[in-house]
Amino acid sequence: MDSLVIDYTRQDAGGASCTAQAWAQVPEALAAQEAQTLKAQAAELLRAKGAVLVAHYYVDGHLQDLALETGGCVSDSLEMARFGRQHAAQTLVVAGVRFMGETAKILSPEKTVLMPTLEATCSLDLGCPVDDFAAFCDAHPDRQVVVYANTSAAVKARADWMVTSSCALEIVSHLKAQGQKVLWAPDRHLGRYIQEQTGADMLMWQGDCIVHNEFKGLELQLLKEQHPGALVLVHPESPRAVVELADVVGSTSALIKAVVEGTQQDYIVATDNGILHRMRQLAPGKKLIEAPTAGNGATCKSCAHCPWMAMNGLRNLIAALQSNSPQVQVEEAIRSRAEGCITRMLDFTATLKAGRPPLQSGMGAA
Ligand code: SF4
Repeated sequence: MDSLVIDYTRQDAGGASCTAQAWAQVPEALAAQEAQTLKAQAAELLRAKGAVLVAHYYVDGHLQDLALETGGCVSDSLEMARFGRQHAAQTLVVAGVRFMGETAKILSPEKTVLMPTLEATCSLDLGCPVDDFAAFCDAHPDRQVVVYANTSAAVKARADWMVTSSCALEIVSHLKAQGQKVLWAPDRHLGRYIQEQTGADMLMWQGDCIVHNEFKGLELQLLKEQHPGALVLVHPESPRAVVELADVVGSTSALIKAVVEGTQQDYIVATDNGILHRMRQLAPGKKLIEAPTAGNGATCKSCAHCPWMAMNGLRNLIAALQSNSPQVQVEEAIRSRAEGCITRMLDFTATLKAGRPPLQSGMGAA
């Protein structure tokens, strides 16, 4: 078994793993004055508890602003992991999806890790259950197991390496240079992109992101023709037909950098539209156009937003700070094994940043 087909529209899929039920739990948009009042309350609670807010680029803009205004961070999942581990605060509040909270807890078991909701999950995580994944690994013991950050702690406990979209190319290139074969999970589109770029021998799990999987190549081509001067920015979780039309393929951080440093006036953006908040702040004069997610018969031309990311809001953040719950917990036997693959990635990326030679691969290590 190398994939699991999940219908995320099924009402009986179980809690917020059904997208309709996740959307039903998304907080209502706040009026400006109300948002200001709630932000001030949340900032005071963060200060009083000595807590720091670690937010992803895809969450609500008020949460991103709050994180930056209170000394926290807004970033991709690689930087979220690094920031949470290095920060002195004993309470981390993670605004994102559950695997991000788990990663924070795995790296900082002594800290309290709060989330606005633990029901905020991810289709990649849901589509890669640990028992099926372990059987896949057992069937291919000669391969380095490389998992994307968007997996459960239990899946990470089975891996040699964790990667994010910021460092996957470098890590797989490194393994290839060492003559290693790779077992990759769970995102099939990102895996295919990495395989094409590196030429590595990669066996793929067949998961996908419900947001990026919806971008359409033909529709994007038509949009490009309407905006011939625009630079096309694509996250590599998108299908091949979309990636092939990109001027820049990269992680959320890389796409933001492309807008900030680009000389063009217009940008077509193919990733979760939560990212536009930070892009507008950092490049206020530029025009950002959302890439199309649906064809002519659809009711929505571009609805690229993750329902699980959208479950995070100021009110449930405040409730979590007031009640000290929900807290992320990871069983110690799983945590200690999962820590190995995350630490290996953080050490590798730190080594690359410092310009030193890459580390040895971790075959067989925890
Ligand atoms: S945007 Fe996609 S990859 Fe990111 S959390 Fe949502 S479902 Fe998962």
